[in-house]
Amino acid sequence: MKAGHGLQVLLPLVAIVAAIAPGALRAATPFLELDVELDPGTRRFQAVAVVAPAPRDFRFQLHESLKVIAASADGARLRVAPAGRDGPVLGWQVQLPAGAGSLRLEYGGTLPALDRSLDDRGVLRGLPPMASGEGSFLPATGAWYPQPAPLFSYRVTVSVPGDQRALVPGRLQSEALPPDASGRYRASFEFGEPAAGIDLMAGPWVIREKSMPRANGGTLRLRTYFPRGLDAVAGLADGYLDDSRHYLERYGEEIGAYPFTEFSVVASPLPTGFAMPTLTYMGAEVLKLPFIRATSLGHEILHNWWGNGVYVDYRAGNWSEGLTTFMADYAYKERESGEAAREVRLGWLRDFAAVPSGNTQSLASFRSRTHGAAATVGYGKSAMLFVMLRDAIGEDAFRRGIRAFWEQHRFRTASWSDLQAAFDKAAGRSLSPFFEQWLYRPGGPVVKIANADAKAEAGKVRLTLTVEQAAPAYTLRLPLEIVTAGRSEMRTIDVGRQRDVVTVDVNAPPEGVRLDPDLRVWRVLDREQLPPILRQWIIARAPRWAQASGVGDVHDAAAQLATRFFEMPPQAVPQDALEQGTEPVLLVGLHADVDAALAHAGLPPRPMRLAGRGTAQVWTIAREAGPPVAVLSAKDAGALRALLGPLPHYGAQSWLVFDDRRALDRGVWPAPGRLIPVQNDR
Ligand SMILES: [Zn+2]
Repeated sequence: MKAGHGLQVLLPLVAIVAAIAPGALRAATPFLELDVELDPGTRRFQAVAVVAPAPRDFRFQLHESLKVIAASADGARLRVAPAGRDGPVLGWQVQLPAGAGSLRLEYGGTLPALDRSLDDRGVLRGLPPMASGEGSFLPATGAWYPQPAPLFSYRVTVSVPGDQRALVPGRLQSEALPPDASGRYRASFEFGEPAAGIDLMAGPWVIREKSMPRANGGTLRLRTYFPRGLDAVAGLADGYLDDSRHYLERYGEEIGAYPFTEFSVVASPLPTGFAMPTLTYMGAEVLKLPFIRATSLGHEILHNWWGNGVYVDYRAGNWSEGLTTFMADYAYKERESGEAAREVRLGWLRDFAAVPSGNTQSLASFRSRTHGAAATVGYGKSAMLFVMLRDAIGEDAFRRGIRAFWEQHRFRTASWSDLQAAFDKAAGRSLSPFFEQWLYRPGGPVVKIANADAKAEAGKVRLTLTVEQAAPAYTLRLPLEIVTAGRSEMRTIDVGRQRDVVTVDVNAPPEGVRLDPDLRVWRVLDREQLPPILRQWIIARAPRWAQASGVGDVHDAAAQLATRFFEMPPQAVPQDALEQGTEPVLLVGLHADVDAALAHAGLPPRPMRLAGRGTAQVWTIAREAGPPVAVLSAKDAGALRALLGPLPHYGAQSWLVFDDRRALDRGVWPAPGRLIPVQNDR
């Protein structure tokens, strides 16, 4: 799996809609009725919009490709006047006579062609409405309809040629499949709750459908809209339908009933991943990847609650990506194992450690992912905030807070402070200090144990720790590992100043202590807590590689692999280099030769968990001194050559076992951090 670079592009996000006024009132929700005729092949678009109630002075925007043809109120023609321009978007203005019930607008034009070079970042900048026979995407932010208000309800009827299908988020009201009288496909959708925008999609799709019971009665319609080729992949569409059901049930139980009557997985010709209410719009190529169903699908489905069920007040920061990452991607790893979850936290903290300190932003200032450093905060730090919050208030209170937040803010905009209020209530105390330091301060605490000693007193042992932090100090509840006679015990300590002296009563004189070995607190990690991963070799500026086996065939395969593995051309060096210099070295060869070379250089032997497995093994060696060493050991030249394709994609790993081209197992070394010795005074 292209975990490193591939996923970066695919990270799903909620399509951002125009700024929403918080607390918009449901009672006053205006209604938009749209009748759309789209011909993707010619890109012709025609629509009739009815806005009710329409304000006396109605202002709206349309993409420059669309012209107003006629406007009327209760049968009386009205004049529509231009009202400015914002890039490719034109402003319009129309005055309604007093007492007019509704406004009818007829408009249309030829849409821009689908631009395949755009990714989801394009949408954040305001993607235009685009059409083509292979797929049309009219995004909510694309000004393809007159938006009556920041939040509104709608009914959309869309008609496309018979070989196309089309949809918008909402409940499917009716559907006419060709050949009907017109030879066209026609479907109507209604969105009765206040919506923040409308995305329209069309494509040459095959529709598959299953239904599932809803917790609150009735049935829920599950669909895939896949192009013929994708639909023909054995088990794929069915797999998406079944997995969707599983995720919908899971989150319905965890948060509150799924708020819609449908969910569809819709294939896009663009390499994007979007969550919209009642559907996800994902790249057709992406949908084929096995890990999408295991993680991204759940993430996108969860956005029906966070982002598309409770809306984000973007002016006050985006809480939805972090909460969704925490309850989806992270939760799946947590269910897998404690070790897998720790690896995710390590990944967040490692990415954070790599951000230059001047480049960090506060979590409250995160709106959407625009560059890697923003994702580190908006996804990583944000998800870690929820890990810490649950640790601080307990699982039960956390769950109550989540359910209450959902109950109170369904189909309304909410901010971080609304989330805090729900958790305050669930925890029975104010969490202001917690939220303030994690939301409004950029960066993270730098904390260490400066001194540890223990004194035996009246049959008890009192451990005294001096904990130091960089200014400004954070209020932290820190997990503390106490190692006594080879056994370890976890406690927590509370600190809040640049220098805190903390005492802990224990039963026997401890040998050492370790701060937060499980990485449950957002902070700047020590070097010892950053285990070596292959990326450090891949991106080295002056990489080196050493041959463990001299045989011709193996030598050639090893040389080829070394060249492919590093981003910069590597220098071939003798085995002595394992002990010399500072630049990273890759040792390559057959098993027996590798073992001999490691022993000769005085390096640790092949790790137990790798030995004897697969056709090839790769691992990094954590060492105190000397150049960083990574090892690539295979059973023969063929096994080495098999790694040419896959290996460079595993930069985030410390070790891997391959069976030919397939990674059987992989992981990151634990690196719990340095054990601080305790001075025992008896
Ligand atoms: Zn997301």
